[in-house]
Formats: sequence, C-alpha cells, structure tokens
Amino acid sequence: MNTPTKPKIGFISLGCPKNQVDTEVMLHALIDAGYEITAEDVEADVIIVNTCAFIDDAKKESIDNILDVAWLKKNRQLKGIIVCGCLSERYREQIFTELPEVDALVGVGSIHDIVEAVESVWSGKRGYASFGDITKMDLGGDRVVTTPSYTAYLKIAEGCDNRCTYCAIPYIRGRFRSRPMEDVLAEAKDLCRLGAKELVVVAQDTSRYGEDLYGEYKLAELLRRLSAETDAVWLRVLYCYPDKITDELIDEIADDPKVCKYIDIPVQHISDRVLRRMNRHGDSGLVRSVFRRLRERVPGIAIRSTAIVGFPGETEEDFEQLCEFVKEVRFRHFGAFPYSREEGTPAYDLPDQIDEQVKQDRYDAIMGIQYDIVAERLEKMKGATVTVLCEGYDPVSGHFYGRSEFDAPEIDGRIFFTSKRKLIEGEFVRVRITDSLDYDPVGEEEE
Ligand code: SF4
Repeated sequence: MNTPTKPKIGFISLGCPKNQVDTEVMLHALIDAGYEITAEDVEADVIIVNTCAFIDDAKKESIDNILDVAWLKKNRQLKGIIVCGCLSERYREQIFTELPEVDALVGVGSIHDIVEAVESVWSGKRGYASFGDITKMDLGGDRVVTTPSYTAYLKIAEGCDNRCTYCAIPYIRGRFRSRPMEDVLAEAKDLCRLGAKELVVVAQDTSRYGEDLYGEYKLAELLRRLSAETDAVWLRVLYCYPDKITDELIDEIADDPKVCKYIDIPVQHISDRVLRRMNRHGDSGLVRSVFRRLRERVPGIAIRSTAIVGFPGETEEDFEQLCEFVKEVRFRHFGAFPYSREEGTPAYDLPDQIDEQVKQDRYDAIMGIQYDIVAERLEKMKGATVTVLCEGYDPVSGHFYGRSEFDAPEIDGRIFFTSKRKLIEGEFVRVRITDSLDYDPVGEEEE
C-alpha cells in the first residue's frame, strides 16, 4: 500500500480557551499547508495533543490522552504523536524519556512550527523539539474556529505577571504581553464576518490589557472599539484580576449595550492572611469594594468567580471567612478548586500543607453553599423573561437550549426552553422562565 504523501492529522485540544485559540492557529497552519484534518483518531496518521498542565488534574488528563493515542500507535495505523501546549513546555526535559510513544514536542512559543513538526515526524524522525521564546512569538495568526460559528474566543494577551504563589502559568506562558489593539480588532472583525455574534475576550489576566504596550489599562477602550467597529452582539470578558477593575471598565460594562452584564473575577480567597500567602494583589477590603462598585453601577450584573480551598496554612477560621464571603456576595457562578501542590511554585515549599481529605471536605462544604444560592436564584427567576442565544436542540427532552448574557460558554449553565418555531443555532430568542432543572432554568419562547 502506497504511503500517502501527507499524513491525515488528528487533533486533541485540552485546557483553557487560550490554549484552544492556539489549537485554532495550528489547525489553520496545517490546513493551509495542505493537510487533511480528521475528527476520527482511528483514521489519523499523526495526532497532535495540545495539552494543559497548570494543576495535577489537568496534567493527568493530558497524560491519559497521550496514552490513549499511544494505544493507536501500537494497534492501529497511527505513525506519530506530537505533544504541544503547557505540558510540553513545563516538562520538556522529561517527556521523551517518560513517554517514549511521543515523537515530537512543540512548546507554547512555537505553535507556528507545527507544520515543521509534522513533516519531521512523517519523515520517520523522532525527537523533533521546538521551544521558541514565547515573549517573541506572534500572538496572532489566522485560525480555524473550533467553537460553534456564532461564538468565538478572542485572545488579547499572553502570559502573566501576577505571580500568585500557587500558580505555574507564569513559568509556562512567560511575562504578560498584550496584543496590539489593531491586531485584536482586525481579528474580531474576521470572526464576526465568519458568523460570530458573541466574542469572549480572554487572556490570563484580561484586566491588565494594554499596560505593557500603552502604559495604561486599555480593556475598557478595547471593548468600546470592539462594540463600535465590529458586528458582535455580545462582548464578554473572562479572567479579570480584582485590583485592575477600573471605574472606566465598570462604566463601559454598565453603559454599552453590547457588553454582557457579566464579569469573571477569580478571587481565590478572602482571608487577608491567605491572600498574602498567595501573593494576591489587594486585600479583602479591595475585593469587597470591587463587587460593591460593580453591583451599584451595574445592577443585576452576573459575577463569576473561583476560589482555592486547602491552601497551605488555611485554618478553619480562614475557611469560615471564605464561606461567609460566598454567602455574602452570592455569585451567579462560583467554582472552587482543592489546592494543587505544583512543583516549581513558591507555595510548593510552604509549611502547613493541608491534608487531601480536609481539602475535599472544604470543597464539598463550599460547593454545598453555592448550590443553595443557585437554587434560590433559580426560584426567583421564574416568571422573568431573558434573551437566549440558541445553541441547539435536545431531542431527548424535546427542548432547545442556549445561554443568556449571564452565562459564558462551556463553563456556565444552559437554559432549556420550548418553542413552536424551528429555531437555528445562533438565533436570539426571548424566553420566559417557568421552572428549573438542577442547576438550569427551564422556560418557553415568549409569543
Ligand atoms: S493571575 Fe495568578 S493564577 Fe492567574 S495566571 Fe496569573 S499567576 Fe496564575
């Protein structure tokens, strides 16, 4: 049987939306170079795994995926495995020895070398490794959008300068770097031309946008220009940092009808003692004032946040403070993470590491609090009417489903609703909420 000149490529994309954008840039480069991409791993000749490695669970998921495709290499036609993303960056010294099935490595600063990596593997070589300096890498690039056409992630910066003591990301993704505003705007216009109605603005720290390039925070201005110069209907901001939420940004969220009344601000904790040990900028007073200013200026705003439980040295009293804070703020969406001890981070060497069972107990306790808050909110939603971006139809329940401006894609809930019409994905529908199911509101299209 003749060996095809070009291998069929399989692609597994793991981790956060920022990594997903990297996947989309690599997909475009491969297709542009004439490669066929297959969604069926069993048909692939070469599989690329774009990995995540910021905490243990993510590393485990990445390694499990690599081992899954390694089985195909032993038992099916697969000829090569290429690992890119944060796992390859963080463990570049270990992967070839500890995962001998892997043929090539591409670092987070070398996504534009993916075609070269495929050519090397397809020529039968093993050991190709490209680890470019991410601070010099072009953060743009044409993409093959992998989200549904009506929504797209817009990565506005890379890296992080906040240096939280538990976090490995600055050591993987490097210093904070904003993309030039004109580049971001040009990409946004392209995404809207391709059908995007919702642009989800992402970075490790979106609220720091512009500080390095323009000497001041420019997220508010960027949102204003995205609103004025693109056909986006919804502009959504994820991954903000509490101490960079300016009045200008809050005004832009409040006054611009295209900007979702939604903001994601991971707080990580509220005990000043723990915040200091995490090297979080800003104390509990600052965090509370941010939420107060947001709620006063943007009534009904949906606030998403996350916290770490079981950070080294977290006492019962610290944890109680966090629980009271969650009850007080009543986040629209809240998630918690049991602390993951990451080698190479300052917190790894902190004394008073917390027992895994205690971490799990605290996780269960605080998510129990949030569950009750959500249940109360769902009760209050009955009778309200919201605009929903229709995302599809569930034949089992006979309901359409979608999201309101208060729900981000993939991480927040859905709204299930009935309609007498034949709706299309990406259509905006007015839905009257009549009931709820677990974490999700249920309703019917308003006549
Ligand atoms: S803000 Fe903190 S947690 Fe987030 S990426 Fe930066 S260092 Fe990591």
